[in-house]
Amino acid sequence: MSAQQLVVLGATGSIGLSTLDVVERNPSRYQVYALAAGRNVEKMAQLCFKHKPRYAIMDEQAAAKALADILASTETEVLAGVVEMQDIASHVDVDIVMSAIVGAAGLLPTLSAVEAGKKVLLANKESLVMSGQLFMDKVKQHGATLLPIDSEHNAIYQCLPQQAQNGSVDSIHKCGISKILLTGSGGPFLHRDIKSLESVTVEEAVAHPNWSMGQKISVDSATMMNKGLEFIEAKWLFNCQADDIEVVIHPQSMIHSMVQYRDGSVIAQMGQPDMRTPIAYGLAYPERIDAGVEPLDFASIVDFTFTKPDYARYPNLQLAIDACSAGQAATTTLNAANEVAVAAFLNKQIGFCDIYRVNAQTLELSELSVLKSIESIMETDRRARRVAEQIIASMR
Ligand code: NAD
Ligand code: MG
Repeated sequence: MSAQQLVVLGATGSIGLSTLDVVERNPSRYQVYALAAGRNVEKMAQLCFKHKPRYAIMDEQAAAKALADILASTETEVLAGVVEMQDIASHVDVDIVMSAIVGAAGLLPTLSAVEAGKKVLLANKESLVMSGQLFMDKVKQHGATLLPIDSEHNAIYQCLPQQAQNGSVDSIHKCGISKILLTGSGGPFLHRDIKSLESVTVEEAVAHPNWSMGQKISVDSATMMNKGLEFIEAKWLFNCQADDIEVVIHPQSMIHSMVQYRDGSVIAQMGQPDMRTPIAYGLAYPERIDAGVEPLDFASIVDFTFTKPDYARYPNLQLAIDACSAGQAATTTLNAANEVAVAAFLNKQIGFCDIYRVNAQTLELSELSVLKSIESIMETDRRARRVAEQIIASMR
């Protein structure tokens, strides 16, 4: 079998680098066809020298120009912009697309891969949160293979019977499932005095106890908006309702999520908190390959605990669960507001608890209409960003 051609969208990020690590361990199986990233020219150049992709795409023209200068003596062709990312993600020579751009910027290239019927490994949860029904309809319509990479959803997928994995049943209840148990660590502030959360610093917020990740998802994990986005992601991936999903706090991050069946069985997927496991699972599905991850050492596990989430500590989680029931316009609006709010927090323009205020007020001030087309989704995203920016400006 010849090597499968892989595109990594978001190559310079945490998931992108973990993907390339797994690829390096399995060189006869995968060949890097193209790498895409935002503006980190230096990192991208290093990756291109190592993996020799046919194409390297930067989001920005200036970054692409700088990269092209560095790669002038190589065979890699440098391109710029989202349209080029869409073209390459849907190229006829491509087999697999890893969707690991952070935020709404990942939506269009990921949808192009779906529309071209590729095997799509989905780390970019924001794209499903923004466009759930439309996204899933396109997966069906174009015969794409969608494999969840988010560790929780990858775990749930692994715990599902085959009919539910391949979408041949229209409801998880038809294969005896009673609940999806979405686990989360609770992030760095699980035990911190709630009143002191107002003074959380950027450095404290991005210091996740178990996982090493990009800045945006690290802040989302601290507010538990990440679990909220994952709740919405699970609803779309597994074709279920908000009532079918329960969030469970499991601070050790050894169980990555569980599926509970009607007969009382609960199937859990376990492993180290290392994204190379779900990435390797997605790359090789239905086979298993080396991911470079050590197995769990059960003799050294001290604590193994579970609790309910405290919504007073994590109001963003409640907001996302409510938005999930309210519908697509609410989740698109919340996702956009949250991206703007987290960026403002990382830039030290607003405080940690202001992230919730911006999200809640943006939802309150936004008109939520029915979203059926990609244009209406993008317009709702833009409108919500403007509202969130105005709220932030009024806070200063
Ligand atoms: P990161 O910040 O480390 O990396 C983001 C990547 O996206 C970088 O390569 C960056 O250059 C690229 N990027 C940013 N804006 C871009 C644009 N406009 N066009 C093209 N590329 C752009 O983030 P991450 O932690 O790797 O997360 C990536 C995605 O995966 C997020 O959606 C996140 O929620 C999801 N995810 C991450 C983890 C994890 O452990 N890191 C786990 C589950 C899900
Ligand atoms: Mg996750």
